[in-house]
Amino acid sequence: MMDNIIKLARINIQKLQPYQSARRIGEGHIGEIWLNANESPMSVFFKLKKKSFNRYPECQPKDLISYYANYSNLSCNQILVTRGADEGIELLIKTFCEPGKDAIIYCPPTYDMYRVNAKIHGVAIKEIPTIKDTWQLDLLNIKLNLTKVKLVYICNPNNPTGNTIIKKDLISLLKMTLGHALIVIDEAYIEFSPQDTMTNYLKEYPNLVILRTLSKAFALAGIRCGFTLAKKDIIDTLNKVIAPYPISVPVADIAVQSLETDYIKFMNNRVLDLNSNRIWLVNELNKLSCVEKVFKSNANYILVKFFMCETVFSALWDKGIIIRNQNDKINLNKCLRISIGTRLECLRLIQELQFFSKK
Ligand SMILES: *Cc1c(COP(=O)(O)O)cnc(C)c1O
Repeated sequence: MMDNIIKLARINIQKLQPYQSARRIGEGHIGEIWLNANESPMSVFFKLKKKSFNRYPECQPKDLISYYANYSNLSCNQILVTRGADEGIELLIKTFCEPGKDAIIYCPPTYDMYRVNAKIHGVAIKEIPTIKDTWQLDLLNIKLNLTKVKLVYICNPNNPTGNTIIKKDLISLLKMTLGHALIVIDEAYIEFSPQDTMTNYLKEYPNLVILRTLSKAFALAGIRCGFTLAKKDIIDTLNKVIAPYPISVPVADIAVQSLETDYIKFMNNRVLDLNSNRIWLVNELNKLSCVEKVFKSNANYILVKFFMCETVFSALWDKGIIIRNQNDKINLNKCLRISIGTRLECLRLIQELQFFSKK
C-alpha cells in the first residue's frame, strides 16, 4: 500500500522511472573489475592548491572558464561550467521548455538522462529511434515530429552504441530547426574521436549547443565538472537559471589543473592507450563463438551482441567483472556494453569469456 506521505510527491515523480546509475546497480557488490560506467580505469593525482573554504566560490570561476576556452578554442563568453554534463542537460530543459507544453526529442538507444530530466520537469518526450544497426539519425521522422519541440538531444559519439553521427546529418538537423529549436550535441566522449567535434559550427549556427565533461577522458568523474558550449546569448540565459554556487572551490581548483598543458598531454596519452586497448579487445571478441556481433565504436566502450547475453552477464558478475546490460533497451536485444579498461582488465574479461566459447 502506498504511504500517504509519498502521495504528496508530484504525480510525474510518483510515476518516474529513475536513472539506473552504474553506482546504484553495482551497490554492495564486491566487483574487482568495473567496466560499467565508462570511467577512466587509470586515475590522476592532484594536490589542492587552495586551502581555505570559508568564502562562497565564484558562480563561474573565471580561471576555469578561461582554461576551458583555451582547450576548446572558443571564447570565454561561449562557455558555462556546470556540475557535470548532467547539470547542463537539466539546465537546458529548465531554461527552454514550458512544462506541460513543450517537448524534447532524443534518439534511442541513447543516454537516459535526457528522458529522466524531461520527465522530472513535466516536459513531453518524443523518442525517434535511430536506424537499427547503423545507429544513424532518422532525419525524416525527426522532421515530421518537430512541433512544440524546443530541444533535440544528440549524443555523439553515442552512448551506448559507440558510433559517431554523420556530420552532414547534424548540419541538416541544425538547418532544419534554425529559429525553432536548439540542437544539443552531447560530446561526453569526444576526446576519443576529436575530429567529430561540432565546436567549429558554433559561429555559423546560433541554435547549436554542445555538452562536455571531465568525467570520461579526463579521468575526473569523481569531481563532477562539465561544460556547456554555445553562443553568448544562450550562455547568458542559462546563467540566469543556474544555482548561485554550483562549482565548489576544490572542484574548480582540480579542474583548472587538469586543463594545464602537461595534463592535457597525459589525457591524450590515456586516450591513445584506451583506443589501442579497444582495438585489441574488439579483435579478441571477434574470435569468440559466444559473440554474435561487435559494433564499431569511436569511444571508450563497445557494444557487443552475445548469443547467451544474460548468462554471460551474470557469469561475469559472479566473477567480479561488472559490465552494463543493455538487453532491455530498444533495438539492443542481447547486447551488453563494455567499458574499455586497462589491458590487464581487458585480458581478464577475455579469459572469462573463453569459457563460453568452444572457439
Ligand atoms: C557520462 C555521460 C554524461 C555525464 O557526464 P557528467 O559530466 O559525469 O555528468 C553525459 N552524457 C553522456 C552521454 C554520458 O555518457
